[in-house]
Amino acid sequence: MKRAHKRVLVTGGAGFLGSHLCDRLLARGDDVLCVDNFFTGSRDNVLHLLGHPRFELMRHDVTFPLFVEVDEIYNLACPASPVHYQNNPVQTIKTAVHGAINMLGLAKRLNARILQASTSEVYGDPTVHPQPEDYRGNVNPIGPRSCYDEGKRCAETLFFDYHRQNKVDIRVARIFNTYGPRMHPNDGRVISNFVTQALRGEPITLFGDGQQTRSFCYVDDLIDGLMRLMDAEGEAHRPVNIGNPGEFTIRELAELVVRLTGTGSELVYRPLPTDDPMQRCPDITRAERLLGWAPQVPLEQGLRRTIPYFAEALGLEAPALA
Ligand code: NAD
Ligand code: UDP
Ligand code: UDP
Repeated sequence: MKRAHKRVLVTGGAGFLGSHLCDRLLARGDDVLCVDNFFTGSRDNVLHLLGHPRFELMRHDVTFPLFVEVDEIYNLACPASPVHYQNNPVQTIKTAVHGAINMLGLAKRLNARILQASTSEVYGDPTVHPQPEDYRGNVNPIGPRSCYDEGKRCAETLFFDYHRQNKVDIRVARIFNTYGPRMHPNDGRVISNFVTQALRGEPITLFGDGQQTRSFCYVDDLIDGLMRLMDAEGEAHRPVNIGNPGEFTIRELAELVVRLTGTGSELVYRPLPTDDPMQRCPDITRAERLLGWAPQVPLEQGLRRTIPYFAEALGLEAPALA
């Protein structure tokens, strides 16, 4: 069946994930309104779209009300890297909570379906492994990561309250660590740090003993999952994990980056940040069943696509990948 053409709002659309989402929505024929305050995103990420007849860019902070006319809303506005979200924690909570209230108020007025970019951080430092959606998490409410974790948890609460109280048509994606082209080289997350360090021949900084784990999803897979969730019917208003269940220790990731780039960088150890989760891996049974979705790009293949992007962003020659 041919899908009706839609006007879609993407908040945080000039960020890493948001800009890829704008690309994909335009490619399938939708109108895209990209709203961003450029806190961690930039016009550069959507520069190639500025002349597109169905694309519009609006500078706006979602903590303030927004009155526009759209059919669907993807709410991605929020810094995602610990370095950035801890830089101004109060603004992070305001973005997560006031941003959610404003976008839910907008969705309510317009009768528009709204998808929240939630996070695996709602599970905190998990005691259940891998994490299914009904696991309630282990989050410290007063630590340096809390502004993000609790902000995103409160946003989920708001989504479900607007759903129950106002019949707002909601989707909640719990996104696990995602990487790929357009991550900012100074983003501070582990893949951008390791790859830029390797390319510059600088020491690769492992926090703690490097035995903590993460599960890394390539950006194209992630965007595919988000769009399927937005379009899904049935029990799709429940939270859905979107991530790649391939789980790696941070040391394994460092060794893989060293092998692929052929760098002479040494591995160095730095203190583990407070409340850094020790393990993380999505149970994606619900996404497979509900969306017919599973990630297609394993870590090594995704890194092979990502390393040349970072080389270009740093103005370096791309290494011949091993
Ligand atoms: P990003 O930092 O590249 O993008 C976030 C975008 O939101 C940026 O363009 C930023 O300028 C914008 N923004 C921040 N505060 C805003 C505000 N108050 N008003 C308007 N715009 C604002 O991060 P990303 O990796 O693209 O993440 C996008 C979303 O996905 C975030 O909500 C994040 O929490 C979620 N997420 C990402 C990951 C991941 O691994 N990338 C994992 C879990 C959840
Ligand atoms: N809101 C918005 N755009 C709209 C409709 C609402 O930004 O098109 C904001 C509105 O300013 C309010 C929030 O969304 O602060 C929540 O709206 P809701 O209608 O739920 O609450 P109320 O306005 O009754 O407080
Ligand atoms: N990490 C690391 N070195 C770095 C950056 C991060 O060892 O230069 C670790 C970090 O302590 C965490 C993991 O890599 O255990 C993932 O960190 P990231 O900031 O990418 O995401 P998050 O902690 O939010 O999953």
